[in-house]
Amino acid sequence: MPHDHHDHDHDNDHDHEHGQHPPEDVVLRVKALESLLVEKGVVDPAALDAIAEHYAERVGPKNGARVVARAWRDPTFHARLMADATEAIAELGFHGVQGEHMVAVQNTAAVHNLVVCTLCSCYPWPVLGLPPTWYKSNAYRSRAVIEPRKVLSEFGVELDPAVEIQVWDSTAEVRYLVIPERPAEADQLDEDALAELVTRNGMIGTALR
Ligand code: FE
Repeated sequence: MPHDHHDHDHDNDHDHEHGQHPPEDVVLRVKALESLLVEKGVVDPAALDAIAEHYAERVGPKNGARVVARAWRDPTFHARLMADATEAIAELGFHGVQGEHMVAVQNTAAVHNLVVCTLCSCYPWPVLGLPPTWYKSNAYRSRAVIEPRKVLSEFGVELDPAVEIQVWDSTAEVRYLVIPERPAEADQLDEDALAELVTRNGMIGTALR
């Protein structure tokens, strides 16, 4: 729901935190394993960072890009996606933790959608992978709401002043996927080629596509 009208329990209990983060024991076990592997010289910490970065930038968002490309190519899929994103996304085999309650929001010539999690870093893992560092930053989380047009400009997105910006506040209950405007090429290109046009930022709303 629009940020102005949010009425979910983002601010008042711990369910949100529980929904957002992996269980503490899992985090501790992963950290312990990582420390051991580094200590034994099995892995280089920089290599681990590179793997995480690769997942955040490329591997994870490929799923979302597939969803967007399908929506651009197939009007009936697009309709299902807008009606029930969780179900439609599951048709492509993408589902699971942090992707249980998906909502797709469509960019148009009149409206640009931007996704944030003002409280922490809720993010649709099954379609976008890991959230980028900036998404988790205090600056993005507050400024995306207060001055979205300026934030977009810093990402290189200069919107016409007539274009309305709709900011969506993610929660443990709802995760958003931005569907960028359908490009003219969608009539010529196949789904694989179209998926290549879609970026991680485009699906958060910090890029046009
Ligand atoms: Fe959150």
